[in-house]
Amino acid sequence: MRPIASGVWQLHSARGCNVYAVEIDNCELAIVDCGFRISDGIISEVAEIRAENRLGDVTYILVTHRHRDHVGGLRDLHHYFPQARIVVGREDCVFDEDNVAWVGENQVTIVVPGEMGLVTRLTTSLRALSLPGHTMGSLAYISEKSGVTFTGDTIISHKNALARPLKFLNENDTLYIKSLSVLAGFATDVAAPGHGYVIQNSFIKRLSELAAQPRKRMNPVEAYRIIRGLIAFVKLRRRRNVQEADY
Ligand SMILES: [Zn+2]
Repeated sequence: MRPIASGVWQLHSARGCNVYAVEIDNCELAIVDCGFRISDGIISEVAEIRAENRLGDVTYILVTHRHRDHVGGLRDLHHYFPQARIVVGREDCVFDEDNVAWVGENQVTIVVPGEMGLVTRLTTSLRALSLPGHTMGSLAYISEKSGVTFTGDTIISHKNALARPLKFLNENDTLYIKSLSVLAGFATDVAAPGHGYVIQNSFIKRLSELAAQPRKRMNPVEAYRIIRGLIAFVKLRRRRNVQEADY
C-alpha cells in the first residue's frame, strides 16, 4: 500500500471522513479518526500496512473531534485494538459522576486540555494541538517524524483550494477563525484533512492566506443551494444504509 507521506497511509475503505494510519515511535501505529463505522476492509488495510512495514500494534486512536462522521466507528475500532489509548479533547468529552471521560459509549484514555494553541506531547514524535471552534474540543495532531499535520475538520480540502466549514457548522465560529492562524503557527507543509484531498505542499502558506480572509456574508441563493445539497447528502446516506441493511 502506498503511503501519502513517509509513515502515513490513508485507509481508503473508510466511510464518513478520512481515516489515516501513522507510524509513531517504536514502530507502533496510531489511527486518526474512525469514520461512521469500521468495516473488514479497514481492518485488512491496517493488517496490510503492519505486515508490509513490519510495524507493531495500534497503540493510539487519535480523535480529532466528536462528530459522528469521525467517531461512529470508535467502539468497533477499539474492539479490534483494545490496547490502543483513545485520545480526545476535554471539551468533546462527557464526564460521569466518577469524573471518567467518555465520548459516546467509549471511555477516553487520554483527555487533552482545550485551551487554544496548547500543545500536548503524546509521544516523542507526536503532538496534539488544541484548536477549539469547530467543536470546543477539536484537536489537530502533528507527526514530527512524518512531517504531516492531521487537521480534522479545521480545514476542508477541495482539489485546488482550501476551505472552511460553514459558519453554522462550527460551535464557535469566532474561535474557529482564530484557530486557523494558531494552526498555521504549528503546522507542517503536508496536511491530512478530515475530508477531501491530502495537501502535499505549501500548506502553511495556503492556510495563512485562508486565515486572513474575512467570512463572506452568504446570499439567500447560496444558502438555498447549500441546504439543498445537505438534504440530498442525508437522503443518499439513508438510502445507502437501507441498501446495506438489506444485504
Ligand atoms: Zn466535524
